[in-house]
Amino acid sequence: MISLVDLTAQYHSIKNEIDAAVLSTLESGHFILGPQVAKFEESVASYLGVKHAIGLASGTDALVIALRALNIGAGDEVIIPAYTFFATAGTVMSVGAKPVFVDVNPQTYQMDVSKIKPAITPHTKAIIPVHLYGHPAEMNPILEIAREHGLKVIEDNAQGYGAEYFGKKTGALGDIGCLSFFPTKNLGAYGDGGMVLTNDSALAERMRMLRTHGWKKKYYSEEVGYNSRLDALQAAILQAKFPHVDAWNEKRRQLARRYTEHLAPLGVVTPVECEWAKHVYHLYIIRSQKRDELQAFLKQKGIASEVYYPIPPHLAEPCRKFGSKEGDFPHAEQAARETLALPLYPELTLAQQDEVIAAVKEFVG
Ligand SMILES: *Cc1c(COP(=O)(O)O)cnc(C)c1O
Repeated sequence: MISLVDLTAQYHSIKNEIDAAVLSTLESGHFILGPQVAKFEESVASYLGVKHAIGLASGTDALVIALRALNIGAGDEVIIPAYTFFATAGTVMSVGAKPVFVDVNPQTYQMDVSKIKPAITPHTKAIIPVHLYGHPAEMNPILEIAREHGLKVIEDNAQGYGAEYFGKKTGALGDIGCLSFFPTKNLGAYGDGGMVLTNDSALAERMRMLRTHGWKKKYYSEEVGYNSRLDALQAAILQAKFPHVDAWNEKRRQLARRYTEHLAPLGVVTPVECEWAKHVYHLYIIRSQKRDELQAFLKQKGIASEVYYPIPPHLAEPCRKFGSKEGDFPHAEQAARETLALPLYPELTLAQQDEVIAAVKEFVG
């Protein structure tokens, strides 16, 4: 059986470091925020090259708190890609704003920047590019359009930890960057976790307040905030994993290259990496018009695969009220019908990968 990801394989590869980090946190008596969280925040801030990193309870909360810090709410519109994890749309709606979708580039799955300007209205406040699958979005044109129209840019970097755009780390390019430490992400905790990143000290202060009930001073709420803190155990685990992530991302890239070398000659549609991009292959995505049959075939061979995502957010139930319908964003809809993630994680062995390749080859015929 080959799984899509194997979190225990990674744990066993660094068990001593993780166990020591957990035990020392238990001994420390600090469980919410505290020195472990501060240390990890500093590590990520310096890795990505941002001034402020603020640990939160999840990547979803990171998006919500970023939107709140930018005063986005009822009556506002936020431009997001039509192909992403639902949280990108759901968080915009949860602060009372309206997600406005733009279709994606069918090769890179990133926001089609030529579609952004026509989507701007007097109500538009922000753009949320998503570095989907670990490939960077086209940030320069996005930032330029945002500047021209006075819009803010929030990067949904949940899948792009370590990715680079023209040599610069994603998550550090917009007004606010958002990270998720969901266990399967490239830097994953053993539970939920997230983070916001910014170079703006006023935004950083506001987001620090929002993560603890709107407090500047303890118990004196200045606005309605949240209970959204990265906990110390997760921060200690993440700090232990932190020095390994570049090597893990490199393994992902090597395995991705190897998949592509074997699958592209068979006519399989494989992922692209633009020349200005460093892709970190959070997911390795192929396309097939017989996607569901391929997935069933792999399953029967004991090989897991997964569809990210079977429904684009504009067609999800909560977004129906905005009136989008089938056919509005053809590239997103086609991707939802055709994309399939193959097993890819740093500990995947070449023998396992060969099995996956052989199975796909057999299916393609
Ligand atoms: C994982 C993910 C999120 C949400 O992160 P959580 O930590 O699971 O709340 C948001 N956006 C994208 C693109 C994601 O992949």
